[in-house]
Amino acid sequence: MAGNWKMYKTPAEGKTFVRSLAQRIGTVEHAVVVVAPPFTGLSAAVDAALGTSVSVAAQNVFWDEQGAFTGEISPPMLTSLGVRWVIIGHSERRLLFGETDQGVARKVRAALDHGLLPILCVGETEEEREAGLTEERLASQVSKGLADVRPDEAQLLTLAYEPVWAIGTGKTATPEIAQEAISFVRGRVAAALDPEAAQVIRILYGGSVKPDNIGELMVQADIDGALVGGASLDVESFAAIVEYPR
Ligand code: PEP
Repeated sequence: MAGNWKMYKTPAEGKTFVRSLAQRIGTVEHAVVVVAPPFTGLSAAVDAALGTSVSVAAQNVFWDEQGAFTGEISPPMLTSLGVRWVIIGHSERRLLFGETDQGVARKVRAALDHGLLPILCVGETEEEREAGLTEERLASQVSKGLADVRPDEAQLLTLAYEPVWAIGTGKTATPEIAQEAISFVRGRVAAALDPEAAQVIRILYGGSVKPDNIGELMVQADIDGALVGGASLDVESFAAIVEYPR
């Protein structure tokens, strides 16, 4: 269960949030709980998360280790803070900041090379869904995003299927639509890597996940967890998602 805070929360707010969340959820055995603060809040969040069931993700990373790349943050910079996870290719990065599938693949490779666990986001836009292009788009994002990954690395990888039309809109994909798309994504992982990798890889659903819809999403056969935006900004609602009815 991963919470993407996007461009919200100061370091102090993030620290308070992680402390409260950790206290609220206690020891969690059925799920891995991850929060993704902005870069400026990573260090405070890692400190607050030490010794708890919460771990910390960055929302982006660059592929080189160092160099003249103004404004970028490298994998070793993240690992040196104690960050374990990184979200790569979120639709906001792709649509607002021009990230390409090729860049996403380089970031996934760089993350793995430095011991960061990538959460690779894929998903179709509303126009693509209406034009019947959902599968084509997902197939292309999966095969290109995983272009430099080996099958034996599947256990280190998490995919997140996030239909762009469901992000921050309050329009959740129905559990059936989410299941159908995630099952398709799993099939494309089998093609890109191998069938065993497709079973091992974790695939999350993201898009307006809330405490009242997480249960019906999690019973779907291929949904292993959720990537949560808005509802991860509040301790009570994110805790309720982590503790979804099982
Ligand atoms: C997201 O940002 O990845 C997301 C799914 O946002 P929300 O839950 O707000 O739709």
